[in-house]
Amino acid sequence: MKAMVLEKQEKIEKKPLKYTDVETREIVNGQVLVKVLANGVCHSDLHIVEGDFPLPRSLFPLIPGHEIVGEVVESKSEIEKGTRVGIGWFYNACGKCDQCISGHENLCPNALVSGINVKGGYAEYAVLDANYVTKIPDGIGNTDAAPLFCAGITAYSAVRRINPSVNDRIAVFGVGGLAFYAIQMIEAMGAKAVAVTRSHARVAEEAGASEIVEKPSGQYDGSIVFAPSSSLVNDAVSSVRSGKTIVIPAVMDKIEIPFSSFTWEKNVTSVASGLRKETRAVLDMAAGSGLKSMVQKRKLSEANEVLSELKNGQIMGRAVLVP
Ligand SMILES: [Zn+2]
Ligand SMILES: [Zn+2]
Repeated sequence: MKAMVLEKQEKIEKKPLKYTDVETREIVNGQVLVKVLANGVCHSDLHIVEGDFPLPRSLFPLIPGHEIVGEVVESKSEIEKGTRVGIGWFYNACGKCDQCISGHENLCPNALVSGINVKGGYAEYAVLDANYVTKIPDGIGNTDAAPLFCAGITAYSAVRRINPSVNDRIAVFGVGGLAFYAIQMIEAMGAKAVAVTRSHARVAEEAGASEIVEKPSGQYDGSIVFAPSSSLVNDAVSSVRSGKTIVIPAVMDKIEIPFSSFTWEKNVTSVASGLRKETRAVLDMAAGSGLKSMVQKRKLSEANEVLSELKNGQIMGRAVLVP
């Protein structure tokens, strides 16, 4: 099969992913082989390719991709051939540790990550763990479904952490692919999304934000920071009411918060992707109420170009690779 293979972590300008023939792996009990129908391109892929996440040599050659949607073509599990399934960041978990048993499989210390520990979706085929894939309901297209597996569930997980009540005003900082979903989810829960953005007002508008502002003003009932910027975190912390939550799904080096803006019991938390049950909820939401997506379909072989456009802020919504 063809795949975009990473031999060595390098800046994306050097086009480190090579469109190469690789062998399709044999599946064992409990696994399925899927023909990849679509794979979303996530910012984490850029971190993986460029070496912002240092990885041991033993993981190379590596095939990135953790928003995989595929059709089962071989199965050594109860999942039948022809079923459409998907997987996100967490390829699987151990199922035995305290975190797994208490329903936090995303915090399992033994979890494997798709596209890092296990070959990912920048390929024509992928081997997946049948216990950790989620079936894709009818009514969602492949390219719309793929980004839900990371962007969608991360946004959902962030919004659930705030758990907004009707008419709450929730500020969303950094309007891109994830915010596009989060804004819709906040509005669907009866709360009001306030998009804080200078350059992506159109995306916020398309997502249906109640308010679009360039700078936060007033007292919000929760905040989500999707852009990797410590100063936005400061804005978010100082603009939420006491006792409320600021969720940071963005990956960043360092966050500095003056204690003065933090004094009155504000909760700052990160999110680690999401759970299988959250994935199912997001897919149901998309199939039912029609969670809108903003995707652009691109060829698998163009992954270097797509990642470089992502780096330069030229991708609106989500790019999805199709073999
Ligand atoms: Zn991701
Ligand atoms: Zn575990």
